[in-house]
Amino acid sequence: MKIITKIEEIKNHIHRLKNENHIISFIPTMGNLHNGHLSLIKKSQSIVSKKIVSIFINPLQFNNTKDFDAYPRKIDKDIECLKTQNIDCLFLPDENILDDLPIIDTLPDGFTKILCGKYRPNHFIGVYKIVLRLFNIISPDYVFFGEKDYQQLLLIKFLIQKNKLNIKINECETIRDLNGLALSSRNNLLTQNQKKIASSIYKLMQEYTMKSNIKHQILSYFEDKIDKLIETEYCEVIETKDLYDIHGLDIIDSDINFKYRLFYAGYISGVRLIDNLSFN
Ligand code: AMP
Repeated sequence: MKIITKIEEIKNHIHRLKNENHIISFIPTMGNLHNGHLSLIKKSQSIVSKKIVSIFINPLQFNNTKDFDAYPRKIDKDIECLKTQNIDCLFLPDENILDDLPIIDTLPDGFTKILCGKYRPNHFIGVYKIVLRLFNIISPDYVFFGEKDYQQLLLIKFLIQKNKLNIKINECETIRDLNGLALSSRNNLLTQNQKKIASSIYKLMQEYTMKSNIKHQILSYFEDKIDKLIETEYCEVIETKDLYDIHGLDIIDSDINFKYRLFYAGYISGVRLIDNLSFN
């Protein structure tokens, strides 16, 4: 596995690969890799292609420097892990990647007025800028993103549509621990007991989505039942077609396997957790 830190060097490397007619699969991450990230890599193995993984903790998408500073960093362990994954190249850009960022002033309402877009001002503009910069450098044919960060997935679809990029996006289902807690790099900041408490979020989500005719009562349903150590930030059910609409996306049939999606965000001991679940 090559490790490349310089933008010119990765561009030359990609150029060589393309000249040799290789297909490029790209998996962007912020590191501290877990089985969720590895599931994206595994999914990419089904396509005959050169796999490029990037690790960059993007300061632009943190709306609070404390959160950025606390974000877990485990680069040596990540490199050892990736060496076992049949990766062609790990791109580890330095801060220079933040020069020459694409300019974008506004995003559709979904990315600023609901869910994480509402509670994390400028978060999605930050994600948009860095991902478009990475896509412009790597020119991938296939990219892999997790449903765990569902609004981010919608943002990447929007970015691809808006810039008319010839990139196929693969959506990967959320990987969870044995108790149902969605894997996240931030889980490293939790104790075993906090993780156990946090896993009640998924259990409640499942319970809620299995009941019908209660969609208007979601917040009180969660507030009544959720552990007192968890502070709910938002909790909403949105119809798939409305979700696409408000995020400025054209909906295609394959997007509507489920009529609704439940979104949850909350804090336990200052650590932010998000999850979502589709249902009919
Ligand atoms: P991150 O390193 O958190 O920026 O995540 C990099 C990619 O991994 C994103 O596409 C995430 O949606 C995806 N991802 C993170 N956690 C999970 C998970 N538990 N299951 C599946 N994909 C995930």
